[in-house]
Amino acid sequence: MKRLFSIVLIIFMALVPAALMAGCAHEGHPMSGGNLAGDSGENTDGKISIVATIFPPYDFAREIAGDKAKVSMLLPPASESHSYEPTPQDIIQIQNCDVFIYVGGESDEWINEILASMDAGKKKIITLMDCVEVKEEEVVEGMQDEDEEEEEEAADVSNAEEPETPEYDEHVWTSPRNAELMVQKISEALCEADAANANTYEKNTEIYLGKLEDLDAKFQAVADNAFRKTVVFGDRFPFRYFADAYGLSYFAAFPGCSTETEPSAATVKFLIDKINTEKIPVIFHIELSSEKMAGTISEATGAEVRLLHACHNISKADFESGVSYLDLMTRNVDALKEALN
Ligand SMILES: [Zn+2]
Repeated sequence: MKRLFSIVLIIFMALVPAALMAGCAHEGHPMSGGNLAGDSGENTDGKISIVATIFPPYDFAREIAGDKAKVSMLLPPASESHSYEPTPQDIIQIQNCDVFIYVGGESDEWINEILASMDAGKKKIITLMDCVEVKEEEVVEGMQDEDEEEEEEAADVSNAEEPETPEYDEHVWTSPRNAELMVQKISEALCEADAANANTYEKNTEIYLGKLEDLDAKFQAVADNAFRKTVVFGDRFPFRYFADAYGLSYFAAFPGCSTETEPSAATVKFLIDKINTEKIPVIFHIELSSEKMAGTISEATGAEVRLLHACHNISKADFESGVSYLDLMTRNVDALKEALN
């Protein structure tokens, strides 16, 4: 999978300079010094351009920037973030933007390769995983890890090249407290990239941080007043940071970024038994999931199927109607309340 990615990347990187030059020639820009930072190659009405890979940082940037910057997201709405593959146009967007925001986890290895190969110039680059205290991906009781064959293959490769490095959970945005830290860093970068509008960015940031604090307080109140502290997911579990923030324990079929979708009979049985013995009222699934496993577990236990948004991405309808991270997380407040009581 990763090897395929590298081949695709090499082809893209070969295409990018040609595409850039074509764009510049067309618009009559000179290719001076090869540094195109700040020149987006498209009409931004003199505004700075901000490019984010996935929905949460896109939305954070949008809240901070208001109408003072052009903010775009590379991942198309409703598409799976883990199987996302960049188009040549995406790479050109990264090359040409003023501020680039990405997560920096295992799913983003292709970005590190792209950034290493380009002249970043004056571009501000923000890695969300550098904004917070990262945690290692965790495999809890009953959870099905990557299949053994894949693991052996991975072990062979890592033994040959370098010592195994810990795998950090990349879903840093799932905790509103982390969101506050990331928003502060994004805000600083915007102020530096566009000093003329710094006052507006600072004002918007202050308002937005207040809203994130309110959201955090809502989750805290739900957790403080809850009958139980355990959630069960018939799905992947990308909520490590969220669960830790509010003192929740969890059981789930797969770790956060697992590519597995078919659970073993033992995994399903473990989750069903857990729900039955602890009388847990809700079985969760995440966005863009098949919901098949959650449905099976619901039928066997009577637990209600509910969605907890991990906010990797957003549906097309929600994207078009301007739904935000705060909106999705506020839906989570109600779902969590139901699951914990
Ligand atoms: Zn994920």
